[in-house]
Amino acid sequence: MEENSSKEKIPDKCPHCGHKLSPWQQVLLNVDRILTCKNCWYKIILTTPPTKDQSEIDESLSSQNDKE
Ligand SMILES: [Zn+2]
Repeated sequence: MEENSSKEKIPDKCPHCGHKLSPWQQVLLNVDRILTCKNCWYKIILTTPPTKDQSEIDESLSSQNDKE
């Protein structure tokens, strides 16, 4: 089996100061899930958002619909 899908997008620049990350830094970020920007020392942390919760929110929203 090959897992070729990249679910997450690795940022190519610091979200804080916009400093461009080198390809090597992007690799480190992908592996460690955390990288400190060398420019502003901002900690870039990759988080995986829970996809399950979204459907629950959808359900509670639609249940508010009043039918006549
Ligand atoms: Zn930065």
